[in-house]
Parts: sequence; C-alpha cells; structure tokens
Amino acid sequence: RFISLEGGEGVGKSTQIAALAEALRARGVDVLVTREPGGSEGAEAIRRLLLEGDAGRWGPRAEALLFAAARSDHLEKTILPALADGKWVLSDRFIDSSRAYQAGASGLADADILTLHRIGSAGRLPDRTLLLTLPEAVAAERAAARDRGGADRIGGRDAIYHARVAQAFAHHADEDPHRFRVVDASGIADHVTIRLLDALADLLP
Ligand code: C5P
Repeated sequence: RFISLEGGEGVGKSTQIAALAEALRARGVDVLVTREPGGSEGAEAIRRLLLEGDAGRWGPRAEALLFAAARSDHLEKTILPALADGKWVLSDRFIDSSRAYQAGASGLADADILTLHRIGSAGRLPDRTLLLTLPEAVAAERAAARDRGGADRIGGRDAIYHARVAQAFAHHADEDPHRFRVVDASGIADHVTIRLLDALADLLP
C-alpha cells in the first residue's frame, strides 16, 4: 500500500509518520518511511536546490517543475521498488502538497500541476492520503516554536499563504473522500496516531 501524509507547517507530520510506522510494524506490516521533496538520491539533490539558498530564488513555475522532477525520481527509484517488494510506503508529502503549495497558494493552475504529475509520474496517486489538520492559530504557534531556520524557507511565506495551503488541502480532500481521510492533529500525540491507524483500518491485513 502507498500512503501519503499531508498537512501544512506545524501539524506534526514528522512525529506522526514515525509513530504510525511503528504502530504498523507492530501489526506485522513491512514499512518504508520516506519524504518529499527527497526520498531518493536525485530527489534529495533537488531538495537542496529548493530549500537551501535564498528564499524566493525560484519562481513558482520553476519551483513546480523542480518538485515534479523530484517526485518523478522519488517514485521511480524508491516508492515503486518498495511497493513491488510488498512493503507499505509512508510518504511525508506527495502530489497533494504540490496542488496545495504550487497551485492553491502560489497561484498556478491545479490542472497544470496535475499535467506535470502525469508527465513526471504517470499520474500515480497514493492508495490513501491522510490529511492532518489543526486550527490555523495552533499550527502557526507550533511552527514558530519549532524555529528550524524558518518554516518559510521558500519565497517569504506568510499567514495568508499558509491559510491558502490549508484551504486547498481541505478542498481536495472534500473532492476525493475515497482516497483522503482528514485527521484532527490536535491533542495528545498518541491519540493522533490512533486516529491515523483508524483511518487505515480498511487497508490493514
Ligand atoms: O514537510 P516539510 O514541512 O519539511 O516541508 C518542506 C518545505 O517544502 C515546506 O516549507 C513546504 O512549504 C515546502 N513544500 C512546497 N511544495 C511542496 C512540498 C513542500 O512548497 N510540493
């Protein structure tokens, strides 16, 4: 199974993906955890191009192409081989992040992002996408507290930008309830992990 975790800055994706992987392993599932942008040698090189250096170094179109190229390499070199080995792949972000950041928030057309995804990754979608959500104020507080060199590394992003990201995620989740599960990321971390596991219950062996 191919599972993606999505959500804006500060929703606790990294913590939760590690906890979810542990919980799945305890149920006998062979899990590979990976992330975007990155997850393969070529895609990690593109990640450095995207996240290091000047914020605002890339325009939205160049940025969308770089994300699509990174995703293509990540899928081909890491995700598909692991799935072929019978593993579950948990990816921290996938195509829905591009739809939320490069389209929803940066203003490119969603249809164009999907076209790039068709070219780069044959339009491959996860079997399930877990969208972690938090009230805006809580997410902003958590992101600020984390202080990891600025969550807004790309293009000087502000609260309005992050609100647009959250809105786009929510909209896409609404449109595809079969693939998406919206999971409340507030409260005790262990409880969030249980909610995530519940959202995968129908896929578990
Ligand atoms: O997952 P993480 O929070 O570490 O995200 C890395 C950065 O890449 C974030 O700042 C996010 O805003 C950005 N990003 C993006 N477009 C994507 C995926 C991530 O702008 N498609």
